[in-house]
Amino acid sequence: MKISNGRGRSRHRSRILSQFRPGRGRSRLELARETGLSAATVSRITRELVRGKVLREVRRPGAAPGRPSAGLEINGASGAVLGISLLYPLARIMVLDLRGDLIRQGEVPIAWNRGVDGLLGPVKRAVSLHRRGVRLAGVGLALPGQWDPESGTSVMYPRIPEWKNVPVRRLFEEWTRVPASLIGYAPAMALAEQARRPGREPRNLVCVEVAENVAMGAIVNGGVVEGASGNAGELGHIPIDPGGPVCYCGATGCLETRATVSAVLEELRESEAARGLFPDPRRVVYGDVFRRAQGGDSFCSRLLGRAARTLGMGLATALNLFNPELLVLNGRFFEAGDLVLNPLRAAVQEHALGSTMKRLSIERSTLGPSASALGAGLLAVREAVRGL
Ligand SMILES: [Zn+2]
Repeated sequence: MKISNGRGRSRHRSRILSQFRPGRGRSRLELARETGLSAATVSRITRELVRGKVLREVRRPGAAPGRPSAGLEINGASGAVLGISLLYPLARIMVLDLRGDLIRQGEVPIAWNRGVDGLLGPVKRAVSLHRRGVRLAGVGLALPGQWDPESGTSVMYPRIPEWKNVPVRRLFEEWTRVPASLIGYAPAMALAEQARRPGREPRNLVCVEVAENVAMGAIVNGGVVEGASGNAGELGHIPIDPGGPVCYCGATGCLETRATVSAVLEELRESEAARGLFPDPRRVVYGDVFRRAQGGDSFCSRLLGRAARTLGMGLATALNLFNPELLVLNGRFFEAGDLVLNPLRAAVQEHALGSTMKRLSIERSTLGPSASALGAGLLAVREAVRGL
């Protein structure tokens, strides 16, 4: 008989805990299968974890009443995390328990025109407010722009030119006195979409948020795609129109220059036809455009249709690359409803391969603008649970 020492036991314990996903149960049988540990070891360690209130017994749907419970899940009451998304114009903060359930959430306007402190000052105050009254075990940060996972620095932040190499991990750890986990804005979104699907967790998923920019996150074979430098998923900067406008990234004809809310508005402002429709095209907002189109205006519908078809072509590339079972659409661009969804679906159908389309379903996100903050929080949950 093999007797494990204390260190072996704690390694086994963290191996078992790392199998848990926020809000999802695991049976002892699954835990043994996934960790390669014996049923007896799993049973002994989980018994200790239940006694210590780290795990709790749950009855899985379909389990017969009166029978011992069929599964285990993380006991949410054992701690809490903060999930924070730092994208302008609003930083979003979520407080989650360790089961991944929302305790509360808030938003902080970012004064990005006031430089680095215009962002960090209000966020620091919000962190100190939201951490009150909870036993904080970790903080997760979803970062826009370029960042470096090794040093924990945010290298560059969109629209704040003086933002260079800000040591965000160190700063948040100083403010909160708990470990901070960093993730890209788009991968965080993908984690949240995967975790919050009802029923089985999707193993292959692409999600895209389209508003002023295009952010794309992917789950491949069950895991989130982060890339070597944490910056995977820059679908907005694939070339789609070689003769098109120069993008802020320096390249020409990027998807973002043709298929975002800002691209639609820019095209409208440059068009002669718009002058007859709107008294001052410079003051037009996206809602004005799709409401006009819904009222039957063909110029506005054509404008939206063209942007949506271009986006569909870009998405077909992502779908052909990743072959997901689910494409989730999020962001203000889709508020135009069928005016953009129909041409987008048609373009995807036309450009994605038959085998890519075979098992694909396309859905609108139910998470809205909080997806990324939620994903960052869920990442912090996973990290915190591993160390319980
Ligand atoms: Zn670009």
